[in-house]
Amino acid sequence: MGYQQILEEIYQETQQFSHIGEPASYIPELTKVDPNQYGICLKTMEGETFHIGDSNTPFAIQSIAKVFSLAMAFHLRGEKLWKRVGVEPSGSAFNSVIQLELERGIPRNPLINAGALVVADILLTELEYPEEQFLKFVQALCHTKDITYNESMAVSERENGFLNAAIANMLKYYGNIENDIERVLRFYFRQCSLTMNCEQLATAFLPFSDHTQPFQFEETKLTSSQVKRINAIMQTCGFYDEAGEFSFTVGLPGKSGVGGGIAAICPRRYSVAVWSPRLNKKGNSVMGMKALEMLTTKTEVSIF
Ligand code: GLU
Repeated sequence: MGYQQILEEIYQETQQFSHIGEPASYIPELTKVDPNQYGICLKTMEGETFHIGDSNTPFAIQSIAKVFSLAMAFHLRGEKLWKRVGVEPSGSAFNSVIQLELERGIPRNPLINAGALVVADILLTELEYPEEQFLKFVQALCHTKDITYNESMAVSERENGFLNAAIANMLKYYGNIENDIERVLRFYFRQCSLTMNCEQLATAFLPFSDHTQPFQFEETKLTSSQVKRINAIMQTCGFYDEAGEFSFTVGLPGKSGVGGGIAAICPRRYSVAVWSPRLNKKGNSVMGMKALEMLTTKTEVSIF
């Protein structure tokens, strides 16, 4: 069976879950999105594209942006990055402050909020025009300039981002933020507001799916080992405190966001992006999780 037929089957079979879950409401701008949208795009290493549903509708990628900022910081700092942030799954919510106190200001990994704030701080120190350079990197990964920040989303999040502000303050207290806290938060919320569709996300993740291929987009150049390690972090830390569940049911490295998007890769085969705004209690897209579970079941290929 070909990928298009598989996507069509998945699309039909997942409809029974279409009413389950609620979109994130803690960011007011996200409540304006129609929760019943649903799209999937899959891109193969051979250059084929398959899609279904609302795969060309842009949405805020939210935490999926953490993979892109991690890639830039890993390029800029190399192994020294791991002095500021760990590589262990958190096992707790993406915006947890408790662990940060226990670990004395070293976030457990770069894909939870605390870790991404440290990564944003590093990029602010290293880059002359952080917002522009970050955007250019993502545009280069997608081969299009048609990607922008959603400023009202970023502002809406800052106005309500008390927990992220608390995390940033705690990081600063422990000496793990070099720049002005407000500047770090502003940059972080802009990254989260980045607006992309499933096709663009699948394109952006494709270069992560084969670490034996050269990886260079704008100034960001990663070694084969670095791409492999970013995959390992996605596998173990990419789904909040449901990373184990995602490995168990889907079995692909990936990253989710509270906008309802999930991007994942099947090593040396394909990248895939799914979007449906209704989330489960852990903050992952209900339809997204189901669709990817069916994808690895129907294709009989995962990393395991
Ligand atoms: N901007 C969101 C926050 O910091 C991102 C959360 C997510 O997508 O996991 O709360």
